[in-house]
Amino acid sequence: MSLHTSHPRSAPRVIVLSGPTAVGKTTVVKKLRAAHPELWISVSTTTRPARPREIDGEHYHFVDDPTFDKMIEQGEFLEWAVVHKRARYGTPRGPMERALANGDSVLLEIDLQGARQVRETIPDALFVFLAPPSWDELVRRLVGRGTETEAERERRLATAREELAAEAEFDVTLVNTDVETVCEELVALMRTPHLTSPEA
Ligand code: 5GP
Repeated sequence: MSLHTSHPRSAPRVIVLSGPTAVGKTTVVKKLRAAHPELWISVSTTTRPARPREIDGEHYHFVDDPTFDKMIEQGEFLEWAVVHKRARYGTPRGPMERALANGDSVLLEIDLQGARQVRETIPDALFVFLAPPSWDELVRRLVGRGTETEAERERRLATAREELAAEAEFDVTLVNTDVETVCEELVALMRTPHLTSPEA
């Protein structure tokens, strides 16, 4: 028997969860953290201020602009982006790499710009698109309260159309009809061994 027989081996996976604004990514991840504390979910760094009940180091690492600049300079981010033209968000590279080295699959919940960057650096990550149950539902979530101006409403809808078109760039689509179901589908994806050849 040859010592060089190629047996596939399982490796931890990087799973990137993304999707249009207001599709419910944050709610899904919140539920996932509560139901499955054993899963490794990346904690992003952001320059936006913490909201009430958000805990530093748990929901996000909250930092100021100079600190974020320094982290960029030092190459600490796997990816980062300005989201909603308001604040910067980034995935710290170190903790994720340590989790993978430990054999844990990791989940990143990031916006579409971030997902595109990860596609460049980790092409064999699994890209999961969270889709709304319907266009009408997305519109309802986006402009639900009806407190914005007509121009703002139009701007949000244009963005949503563009973001929905990104689905084609993803490996898997999960439809967010029910948070519990989406969570279980994500857990299954995280637990499915990712087979690579020994040479990979
Ligand atoms: P929020 O401020 O409501 O918590 O999040 C706003 C948006 O930022 C969400 O769409 C979320 O996907 C995105 N986001 C959170 N963390 C990251 C990150 O590390 N990188 C990128 N690119 N986007 C992120």
